[in-house]
Amino acid sequence: MPTPATHEFKTELKQLLDIIVHSLYTKREIFLRELISNAADAIDKLRFSALTQPDLAAGDTDYRIHLTADAAAGTLMISDNGIGMTRDEVIENLGTIARSGTRQFIETLKAANATNRPELIGQFGVGFYASFMAADRVTVITRSATPGAAAVKWESDGQGSFAVEDAQRAGRGTDVILHLREDARDFVQEYRLRQVIRQYSDFIEHPVQMEVEVERDGKKLKETQTLNSRKAIWLKGKSEVKPEEYDEFYQQVSRDSEKPAKVIHMAAEGAMEFKALMFVPAKRPFDFFWREPKAGLQLYVRRVLISHECEELLPQYLRFIKGVVDSSDLPLNVSREMLQHNPILTRIRKNLVNRIVKSLEEMKTEESEKYTQFFGEFGVILKEGISGDFENRTRIADLLLIESTRTEPGKFTSLPDYVKAMPADQKEILYLVGETREQLDGSPYVEAFRAKNQEVLLFTDPIDEFLIDSLGEYQGKHLKAIDRGQVDSDSSDEKIKTRTTELKSLLELIKAKLSGLKEVRYTSRLKDSAACLVADEHGMSAHMERLMKRVGKSEEGQSAPRILELNPDHALVQAMEKLYQKNPTDDRVQEIAAVLHDQAVIAEGSRVSDPAAFARRVNALLVNGIGA
Ligand code: ADP
Ligand code: MG
Repeated sequence: MPTPATHEFKTELKQLLDIIVHSLYTKREIFLRELISNAADAIDKLRFSALTQPDLAAGDTDYRIHLTADAAAGTLMISDNGIGMTRDEVIENLGTIARSGTRQFIETLKAANATNRPELIGQFGVGFYASFMAADRVTVITRSATPGAAAVKWESDGQGSFAVEDAQRAGRGTDVILHLREDARDFVQEYRLRQVIRQYSDFIEHPVQMEVEVERDGKKLKETQTLNSRKAIWLKGKSEVKPEEYDEFYQQVSRDSEKPAKVIHMAAEGAMEFKALMFVPAKRPFDFFWREPKAGLQLYVRRVLISHECEELLPQYLRFIKGVVDSSDLPLNVSREMLQHNPILTRIRKNLVNRIVKSLEEMKTEESEKYTQFFGEFGVILKEGISGDFENRTRIADLLLIESTRTEPGKFTSLPDYVKAMPADQKEILYLVGETREQLDGSPYVEAFRAKNQEVLLFTDPIDEFLIDSLGEYQGKHLKAIDRGQVDSDSSDEKIKTRTTELKSLLELIKAKLSGLKEVRYTSRLKDSAACLVADEHGMSAHMERLMKRVGKSEEGQSAPRILELNPDHALVQAMEKLYQKNPTDDRVQEIAAVLHDQAVIAEGSRVSDPAAFARRVNALLVNGIGA
């Protein structure tokens, strides 16, 4: 027999294993969940392939997962008769970690304190490698279902390398043998295994079996028992399922350790037959944003798992929903390719979306606090539906929670409520986009609207600008950015008109001296502030411009020309006018204009181009004013 070949683990995996091996675990039992889920996956893969290539199953269709504990040896073996692995597959699958977000996960783990690590590892599901939480040596003996494939043995102590050599195994499938650590020997005990299976793997469809000792008529004998209940609770009627069963099922499909925020259990009958059990999670998984945006629903056809993450069942913006769908209309031997653009799935999807949106609507009206919490976790994902789901966009718009000049920070209004409260003469829905609520509250743009007691919606999510762009209007009312275009009343305001005529040459001078301005004009929109910058009606807002710069779509310093608006009632503006009227070439006129401009830049949340010059000018003015 050839000597075993030693292979190094890939770098990321090495780092991960190092953390796993050197951490103390309170929740180490999740290793069993991971190994059983791998065994179940392997069986599902085989069963699925055997639908089209029956010889792969080779007559053994008694699918099961078997546990063998040996107290004397301190080992626990998890065996399955699933698809198995070839030598190349073993090296590829058990030597690398291919999941997206692994690097970020490792960083998060390093940063987390030791007590939080098990929770994180549990949620991320490091899969097979969780074995090293309980074992100091792991042996895998596997044989692929591919006809003629030889068995192979993989072994490692989790310290950086693994060995692979030829082996013997009677049929297809995989045995994972854990050489348990001294302090993890409880996993050879029947009660402990029962407890863990019940908690984490109860709804697994395949039986998880174990040989146990029982007493019959005073005699002790061995008997194979199934440890999991295998309940397909989604097939039951609502009244037959207990709330805790829903919670447990949710925790098993989602890896979440909390309860779901909402359960959606539905059965469609008639023209279309399917059952769905879906959940709105209460909390965003910690790796939600660095994981690939994957669908959260599993597809079954008459209890047979067809796809773990079926992209076709839900649109992207509902990817936070977890659960299962079981269809009776699809053929069992449906291929993964057939799932794409499948008319049956399209109809199911339409139904599911409708139902989920309805549930969110109910939650919003009936459980407002819970809904607010939900929106804080997933609102930013739901918002994608505004541009992504034309059919439901109005309903999704109704579901948005938005801060406004009338809500306290952290409290919300909504579009329907905003429109209801609109005064009869207000034609447009007013809004402002920026980085933080604080910045928006202090912004000069909202001053006049506040004075007129008109409500302005305040948006602070990076996605909001795109959302508003694609929404455009709501209930026939145009969405109007208050930092864009002219204030309606300015064109008819007498004071503004005369001032503009009298001081036309000053406005022109400022425009000529300050670069990058499209126009300089007076406005009635300001109350306390001296000046502000506005974009053209169709121009890009300052916020959008900053976003574009951040994603590298626009060069630093290459801004669209802005309009500088001056408050005719402000003392500094009036002082500048006086100086100008006395002597149009007085240097201080330009200095004040430059300060007004930079103040406006700061107020819109951008950076002044020359902060040192700004400070110098302000100081000069202050010294002048104090007269010291
Ligand atoms: P994941 O299950 O998320 O892919 P794991 O670390 O749990 O990640 O497993 C890595 C891979 O190893 C699996 O994708 C599968 O290809 C293979 N594997 C693990 N356990 C088994 C098994 N019991 N039978 C067949 N293949 C397995
Ligand atoms: Mg796995």
